Amino acid sequence: MGKQIITDPETGEKHCRCFKRCGGCQLDEPYAAQLTRKQQKAERMLSEFAPVRPIIAMKNPYHYRCKVQNLYAADGRGRILSGIYQSNSRRMTAVDDCMLEDIHAAPVVSTLKKLMHDLRIPPFDLRTGTGILRHTLIRTSPATGQIMLVLVTSSALLPAKNRLIGALRKAHPELTTIVQNICPDGIPLTLGPRSITLFGDGYIEDLICGCRFRISPASFYQVNPEQTEKLYACAVDAAGIADRDVVIDAYCGTGTIGILCAKRGADAAGVELNRAACRDAAENARLNGLTNIRFCNDDAGRFMRRMAAEKEHCDVLMMDPPRAGASAEFLRSAAKLRPDRIVYVSCGIETLQRDLVQLCKSGYRAEFVQPVDMFPHTTGIENVVLLKRKAGRP
Ligand code: SAH
Repeated sequence: MGKQIITDPETGEKHCRCFKRCGGCQLDEPYAAQLTRKQQKAERMLSEFAPVRPIIAMKNPYHYRCKVQNLYAADGRGRILSGIYQSNSRRMTAVDDCMLEDIHAAPVVSTLKKLMHDLRIPPFDLRTGTGILRHTLIRTSPATGQIMLVLVTSSALLPAKNRLIGALRKAHPELTTIVQNICPDGIPLTLGPRSITLFGDGYIEDLICGCRFRISPASFYQVNPEQTEKLYACAVDAAGIADRDVVIDAYCGTGTIGILCAKRGADAAGVELNRAACRDAAENARLNGLTNIRFCNDDAGRFMRRMAAEKEHCDVLMMDPPRAGASAEFLRSAAKLRPDRIVYVSCGIETLQRDLVQLCKSGYRAEFVQPVDMFPHTTGIENVVLLKRKAGRP
């Protein structure tokens, strides 16, 4: 295969030859044009609520993804290929180099392919339902240098396990942990319920905004560390946390946003549905020496309904739901709880717009919208919106 990524010698902009085949990128245009496109979309969809600030861009919008997933397949000659899904399909496209991924991932994948061949570890074949390795997940932390490799297998069986781990560690001393995750059936690229740590601690740690965060294989964690620092700083600043403010961090993942608020003196509570992430969150509070934050492993809507029913006091609601946005129950309960400020961090602009309509109807006014470019070369836009409760409403 020829060189896949081409760099324009004048502008330094990169262009990938796989663009048409691969589902990883959606925008094949200069970065400045991407930013304009995203700014315009944010303004079109959100300026009815509040002024939209200029998008926060990346300095160097390449190799930012610290979460890298790869599929594997064998070609007719038994050679192992790796790649990712084509857009909207279950077909794999072979990719050897990617301008979005952290540069530490590809060499590990390349070694793994060779070892799969030498040690006869067949890739899992979706059509026949046979084979062993479904996919891999690599998470890296540029801040701590830690790297986790998760081998997702179709059953507990992993032939030549010790030789595989030994050879991977020898070729890549930068790997700090290797985990086997067993995913007997499943939606592509998901993890199964059982993980076995084959080497190291079974998680990595990252540093963001001066705090330390443990990330387990199944926990959600932002994929772009440079932009995450800016996103979190914007969200926490917007919240204007004062000492002893009562803060709820809804959809808290590994507890990052809530922990940053607790660090500023808030009495915080986080709620998260994923058990592994919630466990990480509690551990992260401990890692950062905080006793003024607790976490609840629950559905955020149910948690908010309980808080509202118990007439709990809340000054600031930080919310960062998945792309589907918040549930109707969540929004209804948030309105009843009546926090003074709501900071909505969103990765789905359509659902953000929908939820803002609801929040504005229930007595809130948006103060500003801050787009942050978390995902260059894709159509994704992240936004932070500060909402304040209007005076005089019951
Ligand atoms: N604020 C975190 C996580 C944001 S992603 C961060 O910045 O890292 C959204 C999170 O919401 C994920 O961790 C996901 O597991 C969680 N989630 C999804 N549906 C949920 C629900 N109904 N109730 C609570 N948490 C949920």
